[in-house]
Amino acid sequence: MDNTKLKSSKQIALICLVIIVAFAASALMFAISSIKNTGAYVEHTTDMTAMNIIRELDMGMASSVRTAKAMAENSFVVDWAKKENSHASDPEYTKKLYDYLKTSYQENNYNFVFYASKETGTIYYQDGISLKMSNYNTEDRWLYDFMSSNLQYRFTLNPFKASSGDATLLIIYKLTDGSKKTLGTIGISINLAMMENSILELGNYYNVGIAFTDLDGNVLISKEYSLPEGSNIFAKDGLFGDIDNTQLMPVEGAFTVKWIGQNDIFNINKQFCELRYIKAFNWYLVVYGSGEAIMLANRNQLFLQLGLLALLLLLMIAVIINTISQYRNRIISLATMDELTKIMNRKSFMARFEYFSKQHLLEGGHLFLIDIDFFKTINDTLGHAAGDEALSFLAEKLTACIGKDGFIARWGGDEFIGIFFSTIKDPLAQIRALSAELDESETGKRLHLTLSVGIAPIEAGLPLNKEVEKADIALYTSKKNGRNQATMYHESQTGAEPEYSKELIENSKK
Ligand code: GH3
Ligand code: MG
Repeated sequence: MDNTKLKSSKQIALICLVIIVAFAASALMFAISSIKNTGAYVEHTTDMTAMNIIRELDMGMASSVRTAKAMAENSFVVDWAKKENSHASDPEYTKKLYDYLKTSYQENNYNFVFYASKETGTIYYQDGISLKMSNYNTEDRWLYDFMSSNLQYRFTLNPFKASSGDATLLIIYKLTDGSKKTLGTIGISINLAMMENSILELGNYYNVGIAFTDLDGNVLISKEYSLPEGSNIFAKDGLFGDIDNTQLMPVEGAFTVKWIGQNDIFNINKQFCELRYIKAFNWYLVVYGSGEAIMLANRNQLFLQLGLLALLLLLMIAVIINTISQYRNRIISLATMDELTKIMNRKSFMARFEYFSKQHLLEGGHLFLIDIDFFKTINDTLGHAAGDEALSFLAEKLTACIGKDGFIARWGGDEFIGIFFSTIKDPLAQIRALSAELDESETGKRLHLTLSVGIAPIEAGLPLNKEVEKADIALYTSKKNGRNQATMYHESQTGAEPEYSKELIENSKK
């Protein structure tokens, strides 16, 4: 039994070892690929962020341009502009335009809306104010230049920088009469704060910083403390530090530059940055961040994966240990149990007797031998199966009768052996009670089950074969005296021929 345990423990240890080695190997592989993937992850993140921001800007601008276009093509506005000169001193006529501008201003939540007339050089604002344009004023000149150009619309960012902290976008759209003659310009100024918020959200989502700079690298819009507005990304203490900036500067059209710290995959303090030239604004979009955040995110994911893997493997180990120990128990019980009656077999009875004897647990107790009377007749008259049934039935009753006051085993054939601990004061009465129960039970009656029993008091230190010899003499006495009875061994019985179970005694000596 101990041997079986030892072997299966070794098997379990071996399986666990294999699983642990497999776990360590996959953990290592996971870790290496996680570090290697960080670079690819950074590129993907910056690309996704930049593309989303550009889409966001495009959407914002496109809708503003559409509004400006609709206003410039509005039949009322075109009509009004055509006849502006002939109504120059009519406040009622001017009010109509103011009202129109005001409605658009209120509907769209613009900073301001205006119409600039090329012919009269007047700018009409939504709040009922009008100004005369002058060629000496930079912004007015910008408008004049536009009106004499071939362009349909233009943007400019932060046209009046000092006015507010928020970035603004000015869109101007040309107004023409039917013959393509330029009448004036519709202008709308929108606040980029709303766009800035969605940019900030994108930055948080991808865990990166986002900024816009002019072509010299001066930060114009930034929601990130590490790159404050007014700082310069190409400065010595800027984003790129000592790196030569000339190669980073995007020139014409869309241009992207990626930069990731030192070329060392284990360096966690890397910075990454992507610059994109945005033509519509003539600005750079800067997406930047610390590799640490991404590496940490990757590492957390790695730990999560490894944790799940470990959990799975632990479950596997538990299932394997459970299965092996179930088989082990099954093997042990097969080796120690009598297959028919499901009680101990002779071998394990002998082992247990020896163990209990050494522990002095049997002192004051009794050993008994039971032999079924005329068992052959049961086999012969009712059949072998009925004989088997009788054996099982008796084993069951015997187990119940002994309870915790001893133990029993099948000694062989129709013989059972058992121990009464010292707690059983009257073993004869105990056996008699068992016999009475067999006699009263239906199965017992049907099978004509009666027992002959020999009982011997256990002597300290006496080996099992000697004990059995005495019980056997007493059993022989029971048989001789007419069966269906129990006899306590007494020295006076020694005269009897122990012929009855010579063979069994011989066996028990082995
Ligand atoms: P006695 O009263 O003198 O004991 O008469 P008996 O017929 O019981 O004689 P004995 O004890 O010598 O007979 C034992 C018989 O038990 C012999 C064998 O055929 C039968 N036997 C042994 N093992 C089994 C078993 O596993 N199943 C069945 N059905 N019969 C068995
Ligand atoms: Mg018998």
